[in-house]
Amino acid sequence: MKKIYLKEAREKSLKNKHPWIFKSAVKPAKGEAGEIVQVCTSAGKAVALAFYNPHSQISLRLFSWDPEGKADRTFWEDRIVRAVGKRDFLLADPTMTDSCRLIFGEADELPGLVVDRYNEYLSVQFLTAGMELLREEILSLLDRVVKPKGILEKSDTDMRKLEGLGPSEGLLRGREMPPAYAIRENGIRFFVDLTAGQKTGFYLDQRDNRRKTARWAKGLDVLDAFCYSGGFSLNAWKEGARSVTAVDSSDTALEALRDNMTLNGIEKDAFTVVEDNAFEFLRREIREGRTYDMIILDPPKLAPTKAHVEKAMRAYKDLNLQGLKLVKKGGILATFSCSGGLSLQDLKMICAWSALDAHRNVTVLEVLSQPPDHPVSLRYPESEYLKGLILRVE
Ligand code: SAH
Repeated sequence: MKKIYLKEAREKSLKNKHPWIFKSAVKPAKGEAGEIVQVCTSAGKAVALAFYNPHSQISLRLFSWDPEGKADRTFWEDRIVRAVGKRDFLLADPTMTDSCRLIFGEADELPGLVVDRYNEYLSVQFLTAGMELLREEILSLLDRVVKPKGILEKSDTDMRKLEGLGPSEGLLRGREMPPAYAIRENGIRFFVDLTAGQKTGFYLDQRDNRRKTARWAKGLDVLDAFCYSGGFSLNAWKEGARSVTAVDSSDTALEALRDNMTLNGIEKDAFTVVEDNAFEFLRREIREGRTYDMIILDPPKLAPTKAHVEKAMRAYKDLNLQGLKLVKKGGILATFSCSGGLSLQDLKMICAWSALDAHRNVTVLEVLSQPPDHPVSLRYPESEYLKGLILRVE
């Protein structure tokens, strides 16, 4: 097996068992993109196994701390069985929840591989050159371990590009997801469509936060901004919200939300569904003197990387300021950020600034994070991205 050596004094992340080593820390060496190599200290001691990619800024993606071990079929099978087994408890009652993330890349020691289970179907992402080379092996193992009806690929094209890979999507194994296919989460049903044309997936990572947020919704007038297909709206309704107003800028998302209402036996006109830019919608509601008992703000990733943080902080600040202005006295604001570049501390600070500007006294009722199928690895802080606060607004 090829050996790749680190530069002297550049071994800190290796000591911390971080799964990435950047190009600048590696002694230049020839190698195939995605090749499995032994990672060695500058003094020559082999310490880990990794995928090597000389074309990526992340040259090494470490996946084993046994440098003499074999990365064969049994090894990958063991990794997959362990990752899947850790989620069994989440799917113990499929009449409540039948879908979750099964493999979360580096946090499951499978760098570059993401697998989501939508009931009987799997959606996979091969995001690195290393995983790309293992594609057939991984697919046959997923077939064996999970026995899905079909496996579909929905890889993030931008991430593949950084690894020197082209886009890749479509049906890989078994059958296409049938039309009008529904999954269950917290006992609520949601349509999911991963076939070539549609692509309305589902944000599986908000499952627990939807439930925790909805617990506060009983008897309240709820505004769900950035509602997508209605994850928070339907959970809040189930918990007895008095009214639900759902806002999103995407008509496809709102169409899915309406279908999900019907699927769960909710009358068509039970929610107020608004297609609008949420930033502008909030301002208009304030201008028109409206208020809500509870506001949920779950915007898309506004800071994809650390470089975008400053600009994103201003957007989050603006959003939360408008949200706080629009909440009734004694009401609740549930606010989220799925930006990896923004920490929980940052989100708290943004809410503190917003509260000052809105002249509201705000206390934290609950701090929210990622569910156990999207675990945070303490060796890999980058796996922490989702954070939320449930706030009481006086
Ligand atoms: N809360 C949702 C997930 C939100 S994802 C759930 O529980 O499933 C972010 C959503 O924001 C997407 O549906 C996207 O269409 C929408 N969006 C993006 N920019 C927006 C904007 N400026 N105004 C309103 N919606 C927006």
